[in-house]
Amino acid sequence: MKRVVVVGAGVGGLAAAVELSARPGVEVVVVEAADRVGGKMGVAFHDGVRFDTGPSLFTLPEVLRGVVESRGKVLEEELELFRPAPVFRYLLSGGERLDVAARLEETGENVRRSLGAKAAGEFREFMGYSRKIWEAAAPHFVMGQAPTAFSAVKLGLRELKALRDIDSMTTMAAAIDKRVSHRGLRDVFLRYATFNGSDPRCAPATLNCVAWVDMGIGAYGVDGGMHEVALLLERLAREGGVEVRLSEPVRSVRTGGRGMVVETAAGVLEADAVVMNADVRHLIEDLWADAKPHGVKAGGPPSTSGFNLVVRARRRTEEERPGHQVLFCDGDYMQEFEDLFDGEVPPREPTLYLCAKEKAHRSQGWEEEEPLFVMANAPAVREGQKDVNWEAYEKLVMKRLLGAGLIDEDDEVVWRRTPQGLAERFPGSRGSLYGAASNSRLSAFSRPPNRAPKVKGLYLASGSAHPGGGVPLCMQSGRQAARELVGDLLGGD
Ligand SMILES: Cc1cc2nc3c(=O)[nH]c(=O)nc-3n(C[C@H](O)[C@H](O)[C@H](O)COP(=O)(O)OP(=O)(O)OC[C@H]3O[C@@H](n4cnc5c(N)ncnc54)[C@H](O)[C@@H]3O)c2cc1C
Repeated sequence: MKRVVVVGAGVGGLAAAVELSARPGVEVVVVEAADRVGGKMGVAFHDGVRFDTGPSLFTLPEVLRGVVESRGKVLEEELELFRPAPVFRYLLSGGERLDVAARLEETGENVRRSLGAKAAGEFREFMGYSRKIWEAAAPHFVMGQAPTAFSAVKLGLRELKALRDIDSMTTMAAAIDKRVSHRGLRDVFLRYATFNGSDPRCAPATLNCVAWVDMGIGAYGVDGGMHEVALLLERLAREGGVEVRLSEPVRSVRTGGRGMVVETAAGVLEADAVVMNADVRHLIEDLWADAKPHGVKAGGPPSTSGFNLVVRARRRTEEERPGHQVLFCDGDYMQEFEDLFDGEVPPREPTLYLCAKEKAHRSQGWEEEEPLFVMANAPAVREGQKDVNWEAYEKLVMKRLLGAGLIDEDDEVVWRRTPQGLAERFPGSRGSLYGAASNSRLSAFSRPPNRAPKVKGLYLASGSAHPGGGVPLCMQSGRQAARELVGDLLGGD
């Protein structure tokens, strides 16, 4: 038997564990510091109600399907995914309202009705452009091994069109400006940079593919809440014989014994291989205890963090308060990115994302109130940063929500988390939600690959490794790490 220790039970670690458990001859132990699985896909409780505190948008369900099928199960029999209606409501800076529907044609019709025929034409063209990027980029830059300069050159020689279609030579913002003249619609597309915590002014236009992933392929509700995805992965792993140890922080990782040695709060584990789901920076700065260099580099500046609240809000109808809403700032949206990335301060007039959990994920609220998750983007935590008065910031956020009629006067904040809180909970992350930001043309190449370059038996599976942050990408990271590990250890594919 080969033994693999997975450090961390975030979705990347769990996906790796599930995939590995499907391989005969592999014994898997997951060691998690917290008292439940899920990592950033976490939950909190207030007055008898459980609510998600992490991700709210579930995209690319095919990645989860792949993990579930690796254990011979059918996704639909394990978890209910659904499309809320409308999927998303944008309250634009010009005062217009745009509802995103489950079907792209219907969204296009909503754009025409709300923003006019010219905007509808631009929307249609942009979605075609976005789709083309996704279809060219996904197989080479997301779903397989981490790309290298060599693999990109090889791709260019073989499929020049694919390389051209990914539009990596210009920035997201420039490509949007070129194609979209309606200010509100431009803001909608620019906001997709925040789906991996990046700055549209310097992120490659390749990231414009997120519009297609979100509106074309579509975002799903997860019956019972996003945390159900983590619980499903935990269940599949345990059914596959994986031992999941909770409340057992790992203190160090090194080579030795049968290959790798992991020291936890409870003792020492020897393994043939380790899959690191904790942040790679945590590995580099805190956990690695070997004279031998691991060759892992952290991969660029951190993506954005978030200032998060959960409001116990008087229940409203789905028409009044759909599952997902974005309240854009009244001023210039680009100011938000200047504040986040140049000033490294929270946006002075933040664009706010709201998730009404009962509608988005059919999770249960209180008798008369529903949990309303609120997120304002915030800079990741860095040394020398100015202190932020988060109490005052919370008041500003609540005032904006009240002013826009999105909450009631007596609605109450029952949970809050600052970037510092996130940084403390996830060591090495500096509070960033998605690993390194994609703020350069080379970011896809600078992300750590899923196999550590210099240590036999060390693998990386998380938002801080290839292919980056966000729930489906982290699961893909776990799948890819498991695939490479199996190839190395057992000689399979
Ligand atoms: C507020 C918020 C909103 C988000 N919104 C979305 C969204 O809408 N859609 C989307 O797709 N993504 C979203 N994301 C991002 C997404 O949640 C993450 O990219 C993803 O969940 C990270 O998974 P991961 O596999 O990298 O592991 P993580 O979730 O980072 O988990 C790592 C695990 O390792 C454990 N660990 C760390 N150190 C140790 C140690 N020394 N010993 C043992 N265990 C350790 C941690 O406790 C943790 O459980 C959001 C994130 C947050 C926080």
